[in-house]
Order: sequence, then structure tokens, then C-alpha cells
Amino acid sequence: MAAAEEEREGRPQDEATMMKTGTVEWALVSDGTFRLDGGAMFGIVPKPLWEKKAPPDEQNRITLGLNALLVRSGGRTILVDNGIGRKESGRFPEIFAIGDETDIVRSLAEHGVAPGDVDTVVYTHLHFDHSGGGTRLDPDGRAVPVFPNARHIVQAAELEDAENPSERSRVSYVAENWRPLQEGGLLDVVEGETELAPGVRTFVAKGHVRELAGVVIESGREKAVYPSDNLPTAAHVPVPWVMGFDLYPNDTVAFKKRFLGRAVDEEWTVILEHDPLVGAVKIHRDGKSFGVEEVLAAPSLVAPAPPGAE
Ligand SMILES: [Zn+2]
Repeated sequence: MAAAEEEREGRPQDEATMMKTGTVEWALVSDGTFRLDGGAMFGIVPKPLWEKKAPPDEQNRITLGLNALLVRSGGRTILVDNGIGRKESGRFPEIFAIGDETDIVRSLAEHGVAPGDVDTVVYTHLHFDHSGGGTRLDPDGRAVPVFPNARHIVQAAELEDAENPSERSRVSYVAENWRPLQEGGLLDVVEGETELAPGVRTFVAKGHVRELAGVVIESGREKAVYPSDNLPTAAHVPVPWVMGFDLYPNDTVAFKKRFLGRAVDEEWTVILEHDPLVGAVKIHRDGKSFGVEEVLAAPSLVAPAPPGAE
């Protein structure tokens, strides 16, 4: 927190720019990058195809962004997801190659937002790479909330699945990411679409998990949509390019067909949570498939080096 305060004081009139959708302001805020197995990220797609779009390292891992979404509307300060956090030690940071380009608190400070300013945290789902930054370790090693003044919103079905994971999804959930929020009375369990602020709401879709919450910003005639892990990177735009992690891959395919068609017809800005390079795109038809045009770079690329870095 001290670093964030310094950052704010040091650069008072130099806040990073917000995007605008109608009158709603938003920005991607980064928790850095991490890496996951490239094969798992692209499901049934053969490696000779995906490695051209996402080159793997020597362990077959590809780099992913942790692009959380900051939204300001009607006096509300909303944070959608908060990355992987920095609570884990041991082999975890190494296995997932967690980058320290930036982190969620530092990235929010770039926009003049202190943790205490956030009044709403929305979880698209509770996988560790989406909910880890909502808690941190205190000096006694206990996980405590990072955003103490925020209501933290989660889908009921997702909390239920996180509390009772299958053998296959267990590795994706870390209870320390939501338990301190429950204990602190900060967790709001909701069912279905939720209005967050004027022009900002969630929608719920099956695919990556049973009830994935996405976020829609709609103001005037403009619309920006954050589909979370149902469309994690620009490389996942081809409809069958679906993650092997998805619990309901056929639903992800159906979601993407609908979503991408509407994104073209209604000229949506599509915001990408895991692309390491591209933060947001416009979609166009490309023969029978879809293509993308970048409208915003990913935030981990534009984050300044941490104080003291070479
Ligand atoms: Zn994810």
C-alpha cells in the first residue's frame, strides 16, 4: 500500500488514461502475467496451429495476461476480477511463472485508485487467476481482504462449485481467495444478472464454468463487453478454439457463435482478460470465421517498471 501511495503522490497529474464507452469510463488494470500449458489453453487444437499464435516456452507454457477491469460510473468504482495475487509461495509462483511486471494494487494506483476507493469487486468466477488479488497475507501470514470497503459479488452456483469442486476442477480453487471475504461479511452471493452502476451490469453464461459472469458496459449507442474465460485471448476468437480447462466446452462454442456474431453486428468493444498483448478488440467477419482489430494494448505491456527496477 505504501508503494501505491508513493506512486500517487509522485505522479499526481499523470494518471493513466481511461477508455470511454458512452459516459462510462473503464480501463484494464493488470496483475502482471503468468503462464499455463499451451495445449490445455487450446483444447482440441493441434499444437502446429496454436504455437504460431502463442509461442510456448521450453515447458510448453504460454504467457497470459491478468487483465482485470476497472469501471467508473455514477460515482461507483468497480473492479472486475483481480488476478492471481501474491499470497502463494513455494513452487506455485515458479510453476505458473508469475511475472512481477506490476500487480493489481500498483496498476490501480496508476489510475489514482487506492484499494480503499474500490466499492464493488465482481468475480467472473473464483478460479485462482481471477480472485487471488482480492486477499493478501498480513504480517502474521493470515489472508485478509485487499479491498476492505468493497462489496464482493459472486454467482451462487460458482461459490457452490468452488466450495465443492470436482477432482478435475479442485486445482483451480484456493479457499483463501474468498474465505476472508465471507468471514469479513464482504461477500454478496447473487443469482443471475446484476446491475452494478448506471450502464454497467453482469450477464451469466455457461461454458468455462457452470455460471460464468461477464460484464457489459452500455452507454448511449456504445457497448463494451468483458466475456472473461469464455473468450480469454484474441487467439481464442476462432469458434472451436476453446480451452481444455472448460467444464462445458460445447456451451462455450455455442456462446462464442452467438457472442461474436452480435459483437460484429453491434460493433462491440470486446475486452480480453488473458491476452498478454491485446487488451481490447473489435470483431469483424472473415469468411466463415471472425477476425480481430486491436483497439487497446494489454496493460501489463504499458505498466511502468516498479520502483528500483533496472
Ligand atoms: Zn482464467
